[in-house]
Amino acid sequence: MNLIQKFTNIILFSLVMGLVLTSCGEDKKTTKIEAPVPKKARVKIPAFDMDNAYAHIEKQLSFGHRIPGTPEHVACKDWIVSELKANDVTVEIQEFKADFLGLKDQQSYNIIGSINPDKQPRIMLAAHWDSRLIAEKDPNKDMQDKPIMGADDGASGVAVLLEITRLFKENPIDLGVDIVFFDAEDNGVPNGDASTENTWCLGSQYWAKNPHIKNYKAKYGILLDLVGAEDAMFGLEGHSMANARNLLLKTWDLAANMGYSNYFQKYTAGTITDDHVYVMRGRGFPMIDIISLPPSEGKTGFGAHHHTHDDDINIIDKNTLRAVGQVVTAAMYKESDGSF
Ligand SMILES: [Zn+2]
Repeated sequence: MNLIQKFTNIILFSLVMGLVLTSCGEDKKTTKIEAPVPKKARVKIPAFDMDNAYAHIEKQLSFGHRIPGTPEHVACKDWIVSELKANDVTVEIQEFKADFLGLKDQQSYNIIGSINPDKQPRIMLAAHWDSRLIAEKDPNKDMQDKPIMGADDGASGVAVLLEITRLFKENPIDLGVDIVFFDAEDNGVPNGDASTENTWCLGSQYWAKNPHIKNYKAKYGILLDLVGAEDAMFGLEGHSMANARNLLLKTWDLAANMGYSNYFQKYTAGTITDDHVYVMRGRGFPMIDIISLPPSEGKTGFGAHHHTHDDDINIIDKNTLRAVGQVVTAAMYKESDGSF
């Protein structure tokens, strides 16, 4: 044990004793447990550029709706691939056909970008890149059968991950990372019924059964969904809490230590069928979902813009993009030197 370690241990011991004493001396309900003292990263954690991420959302929207089987979707796919390649990411495209909302055999693509492809273990970062064919929650009934722009629902997660690949290029990282953009996530049957659960997340369902590398396994995964809205708040999503609790709490602690506890809050949020569920079921490694589920009227739900035409560029707040982007960036660089 060197001096620094010894000093750290003394601090940790004092903190633990402090907590024990506090909880003995006070009403348990009012005891506030602070996030643990973070291990300091040896590597430099680069600054996430929220303007770049915002521009990546605008660019995706400029293609139009990204609905599998349409030319707009293909154009956006080509752009995502070119962005990945420009950042020296190795790209593999997985093609499959999807049936959704009355459409059949729609050409779909999972896009898989690998950083340091020969390195083990792998970390998976993912988002869905398709947008929704309908707006069933829009207050204007005449507009409910029209596709949404999906600035938050789809484009925001892609934008954050693309900016992170630029950071990986500018600040080479000693870590094996797979960036996976799942297709056909957001075109399921909108009744919230367990019987229609498998109409969602078609890209991750396909990938989980047919991983791009045989027997693919990552150490863990982080999924980003709805990570750009002005009223975003990230609670502890149910499947993540049940199956990837340590990773989830560690990530929220990191966020708190970085000053983002206003976005990352430790309340119990809803249980959401999202791509992480199929990855965990199919491939058996833990994966968390960073997904905005703000609390209102005693429960949590998606923001008011969800699956309405308000999910356009006006709902995006760069500060939300930065909070999520900076936390995930920090997690990756800290993972690379063992301090996460
Ligand atoms: Zn959605």
